[in-house]
Amino acid sequence: MNPRMITIARESRGLTQINLASRADIPQATLSKAENGFAELSTERLQAIADVLDYPVELFDWPDPVYGFGSSAFHHRKQQSLGQTTLKQVQANMNLLVGRLRRLSEGIDIAAPFRLPVLDIDEHTPEEIARILRAAWMLPMGPVHNVVAAIEAAGGLVLRRDLGSPRFTAISIRPPGSRPTFILNRGLPPDRERFTLTHECGHLVMHEIPRDEAEREADRFAAEFLMPAAEIQPSLANVDLAKAADLKRYWKTSMSSLIRRARDLDVITERRYTSLMVQLSQRGYTKKEPVDLPLEESTVVDAMVRIHTEQHGYSDARLAKVVSLKTREFNAEFTPPRRGGLRVVR
Ligand SMILES: [Zn+2]
Repeated sequence: MNPRMITIARESRGLTQINLASRADIPQATLSKAENGFAELSTERLQAIADVLDYPVELFDWPDPVYGFGSSAFHHRKQQSLGQTTLKQVQANMNLLVGRLRRLSEGIDIAAPFRLPVLDIDEHTPEEIARILRAAWMLPMGPVHNVVAAIEAAGGLVLRRDLGSPRFTAISIRPPGSRPTFILNRGLPPDRERFTLTHECGHLVMHEIPRDEAEREADRFAAEFLMPAAEIQPSLANVDLAKAADLKRYWKTSMSSLIRRARDLDVITERRYTSLMVQLSQRGYTKKEPVDLPLEESTVVDAMVRIHTEQHGYSDARLAKVVSLKTREFNAEFTPPRRGGLRVVR
């Protein structure tokens, strides 16, 4: 048994030690000692804990290290204002997801033609790094048609999960020995998802070590990656809302980020910028912009599950066991829609 896994499993369900101990009918002192590695729990008590937490008891044997958020969440002021319990829960769920993905990818060879490098932010500006990455990934000029596909081609995994609070937009982590992993909070509009994913990508490329300017740098990276200055600058002249909507269709970035880009590149004055932002707000576009973009599907995790079920002959129940989830939760979290649409039951 790995004591840390009991803590992670408990936190992932948002329970305190007191909650869990009383529901599993164990003295809290015993649970506390067990979580700190000072006491072994009997098989019956471990099972009682597993039942309350609704996990298979094998989860407590995972030897996995537990990671913190790293650079990507280090400077998010909004995230820092979240309660400790929520933060712990999100961190626990992130660790469990990383462990599940590592287990799911075992024995599966999905080639990634590119990689997500680490580049020295003291040697280059964020804009230079964005251009280096576009070149390294051989992205053509113009808009990045599919950010998720570009990240997956560089070996990254992209998942959408409920992160428990709208204050989280995404978490990115580069677990040692595993693929870079991006967890998007469910429900973001596609233009926000694209910018957020690119921003997180910037963190993983530039901010191995956290630094004060990290947030602004990740935004600058994302703006240049999605809207390269040299290409977009001329088309931003005289931008108004109608033009921003047209540009959004082409560049697949939000109208507000295009207007921001026009200001940052000094194509419009501060006054014009403020006026356009007021217009966006008056029309309700700060809540929901016009021009819907298609959602970018992630494919690699679904492909892993399909290879296990369709080629390796794993049942859902067996695969659930591999990642230490009950089958119902595994299906909710991982099972992709079966190819061909209809699934014959029984
Ligand atoms: Zn950030």
